[in-house]
Amino acid sequence: MTIFRPLLAAFAILFASPSVAQDWSIAIHGGAGTLDRDKMTPEMEAEYRAALQRALDAGETILRNGGSAVEAVRSAIVVLENEPRFNAGRGAVFTWEGENELDAAIMDGRDRSAGAVTGVKTIKNPILLADAVRHDGRHVFLSGAGAEEFAAQRGIETAPPEWFATEARRNALDRMKANNLSALDVDLKFGTVGAVALDQSGNLAAGTSTGGMTGKRWGRIGDAPVIGAGTYADNRSCAISTTGWGEFFIRVGVAHEICTRLRIGKESESRSVRGVLRSLTGQRDREARRAREAQHAQAIADAVMSEVAELGGDGGVILVTPEGDALFSFNTSGMYRGRASSSGINEVAIFAEE
Ligand code: ASP
Repeated sequence: MTIFRPLLAAFAILFASPSVAQDWSIAIHGGAGTLDRDKMTPEMEAEYRAALQRALDAGETILRNGGSAVEAVRSAIVVLENEPRFNAGRGAVFTWEGENELDAAIMDGRDRSAGAVTGVKTIKNPILLADAVRHDGRHVFLSGAGAEEFAAQRGIETAPPEWFATEARRNALDRMKANNLSALDVDLKFGTVGAVALDQSGNLAAGTSTGGMTGKRWGRIGDAPVIGAGTYADNRSCAISTTGWGEFFIRVGVAHEICTRLRIGKESESRSVRGVLRSLTGQRDREARRAREAQHAQAIADAVMSEVAELGGDGGVILVTPEGDALFSFNTSGMYRGRASSSGINEVAIFAEE
């Protein structure tokens, strides 16, 4: 059998289906959690949907015009950070001490360059600071005062504390303290925002931005800015952004775990005789192959999310594959989400059954 492999591989290269590099795809989220139709007024629902659509449009326009996945992720997240309904940038939750401390991360799947910041208090759009860290390249993860000093040197826009603070989030903290509740009791949802994208050059990127969890103390850092937990991108496998109870996502290493399972699965498939034969079928079979790959990616994301649930955590992930499939997996009653692609998909959704 071994002697036929090089021959089969040569055939595979000769007859492989045309490159799908012109495809683009994007998925976004604005947090997962207990999102029930009966607890949301039609006006609120419409506002959430409109905000998600604005973020999706910002990313989509960039990708359709040939811009990079990193650029699309950045732009979609800036829209969500500026939108006070989500727990990122403006509208971030409060710490126990009554401040807004922001975390963000971004990763480029082309070269696996990454940038992340945690505990910043004056950066208007933390995702832009995370990207400046990535671009600078000397470090991956900066925190607190040091990250703000780096931002000042790079001329990153700042905003006063009042910009981030909203009454709804202040009330959530007050309720938590008065009734001795947990962050989950007061918020019932995670409002972290994120985006993942595939650009026309075949590059993937992922980004996530958050205020963390209401009442967080002692410099607590969640999964969002931790590369491999809440954010990961690798052109060989996928781009992931998560939302949920961060401690569990860190313990499972959710974003890296999903990408690794996908990469190893693909590598062993392409080495197998069945895989080479499948690639020989070329264009004719492209749709069927795409559907199989999407199902496989969905199954992997669902399996990793089951591990989060088994440990006691909840939340969700968005992912985009190198083939352009934009997928969601979550174990809550809803997740603010949206996706668009060159195949014509353009949709936003909130509740699980949508
Ligand atoms: N994952 C975030 C954290 O634990 C919370 C969220 O998704 O809203 O900080």
